[in-house]
Amino acid sequence: MIVGEQKPIKEILNMTAPHHRLLVLGCGTCVKTCFAGGEDEVAALASLLRLASRKDGRSLHIEEFTVERQCEDAFIAEAAEAVARNEAVLSLACGAGVQAVARRFPRFRVLPGVNTTFLGVLEHRGVFTEECSGCGDCQLALFGGVCPFSRCAKKLLNGPCGGSRNGKCEVHADTDCVWHLIIERFTALGRLNDLRTYVPPKNWQPSLSGGPRKLIREDHTL
Ligand code: SF4
Ligand code: SF4
Repeated sequence: MIVGEQKPIKEILNMTAPHHRLLVLGCGTCVKTCFAGGEDEVAALASLLRLASRKDGRSLHIEEFTVERQCEDAFIAEAAEAVARNEAVLSLACGAGVQAVARRFPRFRVLPGVNTTFLGVLEHRGVFTEECSGCGDCQLALFGGVCPFSRCAKKLLNGPCGGSRNGKCEVHADTDCVWHLIIERFTALGRLNDLRTYVPPKNWQPSLSGGPRKLIREDHTL
């Protein structure tokens, strides 16, 4: 999932200050799972903004609305009437959702309420870890399903750096050394010898380093 966290309230207050009618727009998918932008977070943030505006003697009307996914036009369309009743939208989606909403409503200001952080998994309740950088050429088969591009601080492809202690990374002591995990995986699979095969430097061309990417599924464009 895409992991993000709500922006600091001060930043949100500054961004929204010029507006008197504001739609707080949630997204019911990734940002809901990471407690940044689902229905509950929309309600909590709207209450906070109402309180802050009352305290500052500012007139502010807030409307709340949540769609299932802000990155899909079919769902964004459901918010059209609510958007039309307001001056600006504070989107609690990831950066893709914010841009999709801005594209759909070109005459309205669309503000980001969330800092989009990484592609990750829910490790346990309230803890999310980065696991994928969206490199565009997945090589997980070479590493037993554990990604060193995203999870090794030095992006090493041919074994550990030697600094790992007790299975933890020397760069971040609270993070598992990804090469420790890879070796554990191959040991459990009885395929440790596979790791003797040299992995050449990664071609980063299909990644964002090659510029913005587009995926076209011709079988679905007809
Ligand atoms: S190899 Fe690339 S696509 Fe696969 S998990 Fe790692 S960063 Fe993501
Ligand atoms: S300790 Fe492990 S995860 Fe950390 S930089 Fe070295 S090889 Fe990479």
